[in-house]
Amino acid sequence: MTPPAPHRRRLTRPAWLLGGVIVATALLGTYLLFAQSGSSQRHRSATVGPALSEIPFNGQRAYRYLQQICDLGPRPSGSPAMAAQQKLLAEHFANLGGKVTRQEFRYRHPLDGSTVPMANLLVEWHPERKERVLLCAHYDTRPFPDRDPVDPRGSFVGANDGGSGVALLMELAHEMPDFQSRYGVDFVLFDGEEFVFSDTDTYFLGSEWFARQYVGNPPPYHYRWGVLFDMVADADLQLFQEGNSVSWSDTRPLVDSIWQTAARLRVPEFIPRRGQTVRDDHLKLHNIAKIPTCDIIDFDYPYWHTVEDLPRRCSAESLAKVGWVTREWLRGLK
Ligand SMILES: [Zn+2]
Repeated sequence: MTPPAPHRRRLTRPAWLLGGVIVATALLGTYLLFAQSGSSQRHRSATVGPALSEIPFNGQRAYRYLQQICDLGPRPSGSPAMAAQQKLLAEHFANLGGKVTRQEFRYRHPLDGSTVPMANLLVEWHPERKERVLLCAHYDTRPFPDRDPVDPRGSFVGANDGGSGVALLMELAHEMPDFQSRYGVDFVLFDGEEFVFSDTDTYFLGSEWFARQYVGNPPPYHYRWGVLFDMVADADLQLFQEGNSVSWSDTRPLVDSIWQTAARLRVPEFIPRRGQTVRDDHLKLHNIAKIPTCDIIDFDYPYWHTVEDLPRRCSAESLAKVGWVTREWLRGLK
């Protein structure tokens, strides 16, 4: 995803670079004061909510899925690791009873002009239900960690940015066969969210393709709501309400109801205040397909688009909290 230029966030210095600094300088005192007040605030908010063992959602298994996905290595569109991921996911969801289909399309490689095969992965639960909810994430990883201060052409595994939404849906899948509701649920994993090599390249290829298909070949069902998950596994989780999501009048009630669910469950990481405005897959779903879709995203992630976006920067607890809130919100849908 990408924030619009006026909101483009300056990357905070990654914590792993700070170790050396902390030993030495005269700035130390000031810096430490600042860092400690920041971290104690975070810890205070984190201790208000339930501990991992008290959350009735299997965050540890979700985290193992995250590791399993990252073990495939970088997963940019069209890569062998992306193909391996698609196979792994298709088997995973089918084994749990989901109806899995691939929505294939092609794209011209921005660097060499070759044809890149892409595919969104769709998983339907209770396909006979005509009123449906779309839960989605992107599953491609950015070709390079171009915001990395040391190695911008290094290896980008995308644990949080690309892996976290996938892991969350892999775990949520265990609960879907028994989901009692008038709503059916579709998972969609978007390809080509950030198959970008320069600032002028096009984002959101998979979600745009999906949205255009929904409008051009209308299915015999209707999506009432869409929820996009992006960067939801940060070990230091803070989920403000994304700016576009709250500014759209048809989507605002969705945001309110998810954050109210979190408040009822006492999950303080869902902070009921407007956060950054982010360009992400939800724009295509909302603007083209007219599906009210919010983006659940923790954009304050120091390892964004760096080689350090690794499983160790993520946590089972964060996945558990987002998964639990999502499931309870689904159960409460009227
Ligand atoms: Zn990204």
